[in-house]
Amino acid sequence: MNEKKNSPKIYIIFAAITVLVILLFNSVIVPAINKARIKETNYSYFLSQVDDGNVKKVEIQQDKILFQVTKTDGTTCIYSTVRIDDDELVDRLYSKGNIDFTGSIEETNPIFDFIVAWVLPLVFMIILWNVLMRGMSRRIGGSNAMSFGKSNAKIYVKAQSGKTFADVAGQDEAKEALEEIVDFLHNPDKYAEIGADLPKGALLVGPPGTGKTLLAKAVAGEANVPFFSISGSEFVEMFVGMGAAKVRDLFQQANEKAPCIVFIDEIDTIGKKRDGQFSGNDEREQTLNQLLAEMDGFDGKKGVVILAATNRPDSLDPALLRPGRFDRRIPVELPDLQGRESILKVHAKDIKTAEGIDYNAIARATAGASGAELANIVNEAALRAVRGGRNMVIQTDLEESVEVVIAGYQRKNAVISQEEKEIIAYHEIGHALVAAKQKDSAPVHKITIIPRTSGALGYTMQVDEGEKVLLSKEEALAKITTLTGGRSAEEVIFNTCTSGASNDIEKATRIARAMVTRYGMSDDFDMVALETVTNQYLGGDTSLACSAETAAKIDTEVNHIISKAHENAKQILTENIDKLHELAKFLLERETITGEEFMEILNKETVTA
Ligand code: ADP
Ligand code: MG
Ligand code: ZN
Repeated sequence: MNEKKNSPKIYIIFAAITVLVILLFNSVIVPAINKARIKETNYSYFLSQVDDGNVKKVEIQQDKILFQVTKTDGTTCIYSTVRIDDDELVDRLYSKGNIDFTGSIEETNPIFDFIVAWVLPLVFMIILWNVLMRGMSRRIGGSNAMSFGKSNAKIYVKAQSGKTFADVAGQDEAKEALEEIVDFLHNPDKYAEIGADLPKGALLVGPPGTGKTLLAKAVAGEANVPFFSISGSEFVEMFVGMGAAKVRDLFQQANEKAPCIVFIDEIDTIGKKRDGQFSGNDEREQTLNQLLAEMDGFDGKKGVVILAATNRPDSLDPALLRPGRFDRRIPVELPDLQGRESILKVHAKDIKTAEGIDYNAIARATAGASGAELANIVNEAALRAVRGGRNMVIQTDLEESVEVVIAGYQRKNAVISQEEKEIIAYHEIGHALVAAKQKDSAPVHKITIIPRTSGALGYTMQVDEGEKVLLSKEEALAKITTLTGGRSAEEVIFNTCTSGASNDIEKATRIARAMVTRYGMSDDFDMVALETVTNQYLGGDTSLACSAETAAKIDTEVNHIISKAHENAKQILTENIDKLHELAKFLLERETITGEEFMEILNKETVTA
């Protein structure tokens, strides 16, 4: 629809360019061509040609003489020569008879001149026009070279978005907050009566894949009003000022269509903090300024609601977050156990499943997974069912696809020597045994030594019975001890250590570090925040907030915690070395064992011993 509005303007611009080109041809190119047609020569050549009777036309100008020579083969050629003060020249020419003095030689070919001056530029412009038009129509959605400064927000109306709140599982708090906004758009009078100002904007914040974009689409589906959707990156243009123009255009459209919703996805692309003197990005700042101005400018009672989504709220400019702009912050967190279960069910509706699938078990095995990952798990399960030649998804499909999403596909034909396989088996049983022998540890769910495409050579899955929201010091220590269990088994049995523990080391260090710097769980420091989380929703990077000496102390403390756990794990394994041998042998045989099989052997052994 931008296309139509633009067209008259484009034609005018194009016509102006055409006129310019024609003028250019007339004033520069035609004279140049004419000049090229005329050859320079010397005076004596002129005289000899006159004498030979080859000259039929002469034009005497102020400082030069133009003459036309007819060659013996009948062709004519124009020459120019300097004019020399020669009194006899006129007589000489006159004596030759039939020489035409008057004709203006330069305009010898009016048709040719006409073609060059008028037809050629027109043809040229028409070709250019066609090429441009074809190039533009190849681009989709009306975003094209000619619509600089136009916002290309997609407009959703109810039918198009096709999503409703029913498609969003879990996230009840977020849905509630958004429902109020939808209600406002339906009955603005109810709110106006009491004098309440409605939120102008709401910011959805949360980790990637938790359903922020989905929620916004659901709002569009529920609200029954026009819904403009644009991604922050679409404001970032090649030319300075274009982003700001787009913002202006977007809000103008929104004002015309009010009541309506404007959704800006990934707003951090344009909403980053402005950081004074070192800013090299004028374009982004202009765009942000325009956005701030527009958000202040429109009438809150009119019914334009701005939604935005980001997973980096800490990087947003404070001006954007103040009341009157995005005054509501709607957290969209990773789903809890119940949330995961209902997300799995929502997505399982789209596929054929066998009766009696235990979604709760899958949800328990996927602690920390986002909605997008869960959707992916369900889809992987369906793909696996097809691969297995089944026409519906069964429990094992889902269980296997959880592992695919966590650790990648099985590498069935990876070649691993028997000796290394043995080490891996002991390593994994080491983890499982240490976990089982501690009371603050989650139960073992599955142990496998089938390598995965993620690089894991085997792993031990632990699944909590219920949802955990707190981490106690004992649990943290138990986790670290369990992580050191793999390496400990290598040491106890083979008296060696391998690189297979690198991932465990990383994880253990992260937990121990957090215990010291953020949870106040160490002996040396009290409740002091030594590190702050900078990027809460994207990996949770931390930055140190302490002196260098303290940093050194932290390292010592972290090492201390881990080595204590390591000693502890080794002790557990040495005490249970018979079970370690038996379980490792069993695992080597089977490659994958379940938590129940593991516990059975563990307990049976205790009874007979
Ligand atoms: P983001 O928060 O990164 O914008 P999206 O909204 O794009 O995440 O979510 C990606 C996909 O994950 C959705 O299309 C949907 O299939 C799935 N998903 C995420 N959260 C949920 C949820 N709460 N309920 C159902 N599906 C979800
Ligand atoms: Mg998104
Ligand atoms: Zn390990």
